[in-house]
Amino acid sequence: MSDFSMNVDADGVAMITWDTQGKSMNVMNEQGFLDLDKMIDQVLSDDAIKGAVITSGKKGSFAGGMDLNIIAKMKDMAGDNPAKGLFDGIMDIHHLLRKIERAGMDAKTNKGGKPIAAALPGTALGIGLELPLACHRIFCADNPKAKIGLPEIKVGIFPGAGGTTRVSRMLGAMAAAPILLEGKMLDPKKAKSSGLIHEVVDDPVAAAREWVLSEPKIVKPWDEKGWKMPGGAPYHPAGFMTFVGASAMVNGNTMGVYPAAKALLSAVYEGAMVPFDTAVKIEARWFTNVLMNPSSSAMIRSLFINKEALDKGAVRPAGVPDQSVKKVGVMGAGMMGAGIALVSAMAGIDVVLIDQKQEAADKGKAYAADYFDKGISRKKITPEKKDENLARINATTDYAALEGCDLIIEAVFEDPGVKAEVTKNVLKVVGDDCIFATNTSTLPISELAKASDKPDQFIGIHFFSPVQSMMLVEIIKGAETGDRATAKALDYVRQIRKTPIVVNDARFFYCNRCIIPYINEGIRMVKEGVEPALIENAARMVGMPLGPLQLVDETSIDLGAKIAKATKAAMGDAYPDGEVDEVIFWMFDEGRLGRKSNAGFYNYDEKGKRQGLWEGLAAKYPVADEQPDLIEVQHRLLMIQSLEAVRALEEDVLMDIREGDVGAILAWGFAPWSGGPLSWLDMIGADYAVERTAELTERYGDRFATPQLLKDLADGSETFYSRFQPAIAAE
Ligand code: NAD
Repeated sequence: MSDFSMNVDADGVAMITWDTQGKSMNVMNEQGFLDLDKMIDQVLSDDAIKGAVITSGKKGSFAGGMDLNIIAKMKDMAGDNPAKGLFDGIMDIHHLLRKIERAGMDAKTNKGGKPIAAALPGTALGIGLELPLACHRIFCADNPKAKIGLPEIKVGIFPGAGGTTRVSRMLGAMAAAPILLEGKMLDPKKAKSSGLIHEVVDDPVAAAREWVLSEPKIVKPWDEKGWKMPGGAPYHPAGFMTFVGASAMVNGNTMGVYPAAKALLSAVYEGAMVPFDTAVKIEARWFTNVLMNPSSSAMIRSLFINKEALDKGAVRPAGVPDQSVKKVGVMGAGMMGAGIALVSAMAGIDVVLIDQKQEAADKGKAYAADYFDKGISRKKITPEKKDENLARINATTDYAALEGCDLIIEAVFEDPGVKAEVTKNVLKVVGDDCIFATNTSTLPISELAKASDKPDQFIGIHFFSPVQSMMLVEIIKGAETGDRATAKALDYVRQIRKTPIVVNDARFFYCNRCIIPYINEGIRMVKEGVEPALIENAARMVGMPLGPLQLVDETSIDLGAKIAKATKAAMGDAYPDGEVDEVIFWMFDEGRLGRKSNAGFYNYDEKGKRQGLWEGLAAKYPVADEQPDLIEVQHRLLMIQSLEAVRALEEDVLMDIREGDVGAILAWGFAPWSGGPLSWLDMIGADYAVERTAELTERYGDRFATPQLLKDLADGSETFYSRFQPAIAAE
């Protein structure tokens, strides 16, 4: 059965209804385009039809966009000459949309043609907006929850079905920038005031129908003689400034590593100087260019397809009944505990927030109140909702309040003795079924589980700071953790709307295991005499959100020193990071603890605003006369993290490569353009990775030693995704 159906009423208005089978929201696929094409042909050729209304069979939404699984695989499916195959496929879509837009008008006089309106019950995203944009008038229901926009840029592509060309011509390059370059989504009223849609009405279908019957003018402004781009085309004085500014902004924000943003801007710039039909051809060429870049399929795979699979429970143990949490006990109302209480209350879960003193517990609850107040001033939440959420948090010192909790999350001091005592005291008051989780960032779960008489009900739920804004939660299974505990942790993470990864217990679990070597590699370079600005810029220019020196300033030098001491004590002679510690301990002795002390690898002003890199570093660690090239520094910084991800996989700490990639991007921002560390290795190829790690090992030491798994992949001409996830390999 087709996703599109058409009925012609007595007045000659064709009602085309889009209703994707088996989905709650419409998504476009290849067959959908073909079916719609046939219906448009019929509308235009049948004299009894006066015009058409395209609407949706779904309540509250028009369409969510293109099926991303299709976009991720488009390159593979495009035949022996994929660039040509892709371009031709994209042009077919343009022809259909242009057919709707021209609607049978005479090419020279713009006379004739049939009106085609879009009637949106609500949300219209991606191709779900590009199709209405090709229609002559867009009517949307007055539905404040609806989102109207073109979010493609967020997955590493850009609106490639005419959205880029049409929106920039409708609004001008400047006003189009937030919609195209940032993927900003608007509610219907804002979409109307910005000029993206035409009408917000109670009954969009009725209004659209009436409009179609009113014999309206349908020619688009850009098809009329003398049309000029709003705000000026590139060689107009105002337009010139817009494009200079936009180009600087795009390069500043993306550091040039996201091909889509640059391609989008090129399509707008070049398209603005030529007639519409040439402009969409240019748009199609740039879109092909982006789809041919491995970054786009890797980003879609990690940031959407695999993230969504993890969100939906891809790694949840089978057969365990729903473990949704009703009442959570949070032990410790410090920085982490307060955040955990906040996100739990927002998810509708009752929270008991316990600290040693009532003031401390109250302070934890006040953190949530503060957060809601900010939300009220930004109109993100109502005062009633604030009260409702806050009422769920019982801040107390009384362990008896924990009765009835089905999950405990412990976030007290990072001290095994304190944690063991808290665990024992909690287990005296909670029921036999209660799952106990620790938020430790460094202590082995299996060791902490010894404080419990039910180690199968003990698990790690590792949050990142600040809890309310970090999207990832790392769940760690101890040696004896059972399936119900894992399911409970996963169900809880789903309730608080974050993305989970599940790993096995090992030093620093997965995320910190990769991120600590990144920081350490930056610090090693300082000691070697690499210019600190080169280290930081190399990291940013390869897509890391923070350079390693800025990152250690943010997390604090004393935390680094504390972790170094504990790790050294645990590893003894095998401890490999003496060189790093020398710098860290020296900074510590200098009192340069990072942002918290307003002094670290960077200088800070009295308000705590980060200034330039600290000049004093060079007195202790002079800059070498000869500096490495940019790529060498970047490869060291990316490889040191990626090798740790491979070792985590070899050692069964990581059990699913999707978690390795999604976790790396969401937890510490591993170069998102790459799709994650394992996707990055796939992109450069196992052969080259083996060769490169051998060179790096020779120059810098065994921490770059080539893992056996990488050698095996190279020998078998395989990739991580072809070996471990053949069904979803996108490259
Ligand atoms: P914090 O010092 O801000 O808070 C700890 C809180 O626990 C304090 O309010 C303290 O009074 C309370 N506490 C101590 N002993 C207690 C007891 N016996 N009973 C009840 N409350 C007690 O520390 P934090 O940064 O929130 O870290 C807490 C835990 O989370 C640690 O295990 C830490 O390793 C882990 N963690 C921290 C981060 C981070 O970025 N800070 C990230 C992930 C995990």
